[in-house]
Amino acid sequence: MPGASGKTYEMLWDCQFCGTAKLLGKTHRFCPNCGAPQNPAARYYPSDDEKVAVEDHIFVGADKTCGSCGQLNAGNAEFCQQCGAPLAGAAGAKVVAAQTRAEGEAFQAGAPRDVTREAFDAEMQRVGVQKKKNTGPNWTLYAALGVVALVVVGIIAALLWTRETTVFVSGHEWSREIRIEQYDNFTTQSWWDAPPMGDGVVRGLCTQRQRSTRQVPDGEECSTVRVDQGDGTYREERQCRTRYRDEPVYDDWCTFTGRRWDYERSVTTSGRSLRETPAWGVVTLNCASQARVGCEREAGREEIYTVIFTGDENRTYRCPFPQAQWQAAGIESVWSVNVRVVDAGAADCNSLKPKN
Ligand SMILES: [Zn+2]
Ligand SMILES: [Zn+2]
Repeated sequence: MPGASGKTYEMLWDCQFCGTAKLLGKTHRFCPNCGAPQNPAARYYPSDDEKVAVEDHIFVGADKTCGSCGQLNAGNAEFCQQCGAPLAGAAGAKVVAAQTRAEGEAFQAGAPRDVTREAFDAEMQRVGVQKKKNTGPNWTLYAALGVVALVVVGIIAALLWTRETTVFVSGHEWSREIRIEQYDNFTTQSWWDAPPMGDGVVRGLCTQRQRSTRQVPDGEECSTVRVDQGDGTYREERQCRTRYRDEPVYDDWCTFTGRRWDYERSVTTSGRSLRETPAWGVVTLNCASQARVGCEREAGREEIYTVIFTGDENRTYRCPFPQAQWQAAGIESVWSVNVRVVDAGAADCNSLKPKN
C-alpha cells in the first residue's frame, strides 16, 4: 500500500547452502558467509526481539526474479543487474501472509522456511503423489447440496402435481355469524406517546421501562498488523477501530383508561342440508348503539356455504361456494375437480366443473 504509515523492518531468511540463520532480507542480498544469493521464498517474519528497523525505506515494489538467470532484482529494475535480460513480466517475490496481533501481545518469529521441503511438497502435489490439502472446491459438499436441491424440487413438484377426478355432491353446510360489540370501560398499557383509540381516554400512572437500545462509542480496539512487502522488508502498523457498547433507552410506559366498543359475542346459526333455508339469528341488542357502558351494537355479518363432494375411495372434499351456486349444486350431481396426486386429501376448488 503506497503511502501507508507505520515502520519498516527487515524480513529474515536462512541460507539453505551453509545454514547461516536469521540473515536480513534487505541488507543481505547474498549470504555473508558463503555468498549464495538470497532465495525470496525463504523469507520469514522475525520475533519482536529480533526485528531490525529499516530507516528511510523507499518501497519500490516487490523484488523480481530474473527469468533467465534467477537473479533477485529490485522491484523497480527494468533489466537484470546480473545478465541484462529485460524484467518486464518477471515474477514478483511471493509474500508471507500478513499477521495480526492484539495490543499488548508480542509477535512470535515466523517459522524458518525449509525451501527444499516446500518445493518437494509442491512437486509431489503437482504429480498427485500427496493428498491435496483442503484448498480446492469441496466436490463432495457440492454433490450433497445438489442432491438436497433435487429432493426439494422433487417434493414441490410432487405436491403441485394434480390429476382430474370425478366427484359427486354428497352434502351441504351453511353457517351465518352476527358479531356483536359492547361499549365498555377499558384499561390498557402503552407508551406515553401511543395512546389507545377510544372515548375519554385518560393517561394514568407511568413507569420507566426500557424501550430500545442505542450504540455508544466505548473506547478503541487496536491491533498491530505486519505486512510482507516482498522486497525483503515488512511494514508494521497499528490499526484501530472504535468499539461500541449497547446502552438501554428508557421511556414512559403508561396506564390508559377510557371507553370503547369491543367484541363481545356472536349470534350464529348453521345447517347441514339444502332443506334448511339459511337464516340469520335473532339479535337482541341491549340499548342498541348508544355510547353508554353496557350498550351493544352489531359489528358485521359473515356467511359461509360449503359443498361436500365425495370421490374415489370415499374421499371427501370441501369447497366454499357463493350462496346461489351452493343452492344450485344439487345432491348427487356429478362434477370434475383436480386433486393432488401425492396428497389426495386436497382438492383445487377453483378447478370444479359440473359434468353432464
Ligand atoms: Zn550461506
Ligand atoms: Zn538475469
